Amino acid sequence: MALSVITVPCLSDNYAFIIRCTDTGITAVVDAPEASPILTELEKQQWGLDLILITHHHSDHIDGIDKLKDTTGAKIIGAKLDKHRLPFLNTAVVEGDTISIGNSNAKVINTSGHTMGHISFYFNNDHKIFSGDSLMALGCGRIFEGTPEIMWNTLKKFMALPPKTMIYSGHEYTANNAKFALSIDPTNKRLVERAQTIKTLRIKNKYTVPSMLELEMATNPFLRSSIPSFKELFGMNGSSAVEVFTKVRILKDNFKS
Ligand code: ZN
Ligand code: FE
Repeated sequence: MALSVITVPCLSDNYAFIIRCTDTGITAVVDAPEASPILTELEKQQWGLDLILITHHHSDHIDGIDKLKDTTGAKIIGAKLDKHRLPFLNTAVVEGDTISIGNSNAKVINTSGHTMGHISFYFNNDHKIFSGDSLMALGCGRIFEGTPEIMWNTLKKFMALPPKTMIYSGHEYTANNAKFALSIDPTNKRLVERAQTIKTLRIKNKYTVPSMLELEMATNPFLRSSIPSFKELFGMNGSSAVEVFTKVRILKDNFKS
């Protein structure tokens, strides 16, 4: 019983993930930024494609769907809340639904904030979550449709998962995220170490995704908004976690690296 994952870089900085139940050979892809790199990898492995899982409706996550579907006959799963803008869905899911990739099951979690209707796929037995543009390596998605409060509630859902959960997020933004994180939290030892690791990985053109939740909790500024010593960095000891999170999000949105 195991879910294998192949990371497929797409466009300039997106990731798609080909996931496969090694018992049954059932294969899926999480997000479809463009078809050709995904098809190339499937061909290399001599695999078909059974399912396409969509985290949210942005074009850099769905533009490859048509061609993937036409070429492989894969069925498409996405959020019911996004049905009006994901017209090609075969299965529309809501929070709490379970989907299966062969013998591996994923719970659907509503992770709105970046968009309303954004979902993540949590394979609890495999300790993996596919988080799209919600929780990201050392960051979180920009709030386009939700409110800071909605995004903070989403991040709290991630923080409640087991610490060893691996976060498969949709972009390679980590080096820039590290510069921002260091600018506000420069004495965080694990962050300083992580920033160095990220630098080394990126010089070798290696991926910084996935990352472990435990490390995100220790280093990702967006997850640290409820910690008193973190609040203190902004002189916001008396403020709520949402207020601190809002402050950090605004600082990041205006950050020039
Ligand atoms: Zn997006
Ligand atoms: Fe994106």
